[in-house]
Amino acid sequence: MKFGGTSMAGMERIRNVALRVKHEVGLGNEVAVVVSAMAGETDRLVGFCKEASPLYDEAEYDVVVASGEQVTSGLLAMTLKAIGVDARSWLGWQLPIRTVEAHSKARIDDIETQALLQAMAAGQVAVIPGFQGQMADGRVSTLGRGGSDTSAVAIAAAVKAERCDIYTDVDGVYTTDPRIVSRARKLNKVTYEEMLELASVGSKVLQTRSVALAMKEKVRVQVLSSFEQPGNDPEPGTMIVSEEEIEESDMERQLITGIAHDKNEAKIIVTRVPDKPGAVASIFLPLAEASINVDMIIQNDSKDNAETDVTFTVPRADLARSVDILEARKESIGFRRIITDAEVAKISVVGVGMRSHAGVAALMFKTLADRGINIEAISTSEIKVSVLIDEDETELAVRVLHTAYGLDGDQPAG
Ligand code: ADP
Ligand code: ASP
Ligand code: MG
Repeated sequence: MKFGGTSMAGMERIRNVALRVKHEVGLGNEVAVVVSAMAGETDRLVGFCKEASPLYDEAEYDVVVASGEQVTSGLLAMTLKAIGVDARSWLGWQLPIRTVEAHSKARIDDIETQALLQAMAAGQVAVIPGFQGQMADGRVSTLGRGGSDTSAVAIAAAVKAERCDIYTDVDGVYTTDPRIVSRARKLNKVTYEEMLELASVGSKVLQTRSVALAMKEKVRVQVLSSFEQPGNDPEPGTMIVSEEEIEESDMERQLITGIAHDKNEAKIIVTRVPDKPGAVASIFLPLAEASINVDMIIQNDSKDNAETDVTFTVPRADLARSVDILEARKESIGFRRIITDAEVAKISVVGVGMRSHAGVAALMFKTLADRGINIEAISTSEIKVSVLIDEDETELAVRVLHTAYGLDGDQPAG
């Protein structure tokens, strides 16, 4: 069972979580619980780090931000004991949860489960702070924002759990963010592949890595609300399943499964780049070396075979650094100037149905055009079409696309 920040925000909510855990224990299950920091706490701690130093040390950042989950894991273990459920907390370094690569965005390499399994078999609930792990040198690490989802899936895989239930502040995965479209519909099932694509293009209900890991380790993940009482509904949330499981049970699949938006990208246009082999590489290699993830890329055809513009997107947080890196190489790359725009949003439609149907992209472009929304860049994958638009038009675009693909439910969500 994993409980997100909203579910852990304050003692009253932690008591509610404890009752849910008690309910699962009462059903005869051995339970491990992964908890997030209280809502807003990680942001607060990140703020302190930035105040301490704009170029803070990332290992120390991990020490600071991992503390939010330490607090909630201790509080939940105490609360469980107070209602007669045996429990203890297990910090990342105590298990340990071994991580590799970079501080502040570490990857889980391996989890030691022996002590955990023993305690659980003896009837003790294990309460594990999400988001945190330990580097090979013993230092605390964190898994990137939203990383508690990944902690939960990794622990579920390591202890070979029957299920990984992700409790959050909505009762499942919807056709789009229900906070934007009130007629978004809850999906009873969604495939790993679609969920992975949805998460990676901005549906923050699950961290992308957690979905990739669940897919690889075949963990049965369910997303459900921590605010609803456990009832008799056989499909209370959303199950993430393999494609075969959906095809068998759900013949009437929609062409599009979901729509996501992402306001975390920024656009860069590099003008008048020489149109010759190696020019594009000279732009993207230094960005790659700086670990900057480039997403959408457009290179116009040059009319005179001499110069062309190259447009691409980077994470908004990396915009200034990207421009610095390119400006420093202005002469060797040979461009005229750099134009940037941080007020953009990426809107994506996702669905396995588009593999076998033409016209998905065309409908997207026409729907946006009818509303006068200009498309600045496009990218596609087998099961996704993304467009870049003006940030101010995000909500409108998501809403009109939701209607155009027939996703609107009869009743407002919630
Ligand atoms: P937690 O703190 O439990 O990890 P998050 O805030 O990380 O919760 O994720 C839950 C939020 O994800 C919801 O409140 C919702 O606004 C947002 N969200 C975005 N896209 C979707 C979607 N397609 N379905 C459900 N929720 C979504
Ligand atoms: N507390 C961390 C964050 O806010 C991890 C999480 O909640 O998943 O990013
Ligand atoms: Mg989250």
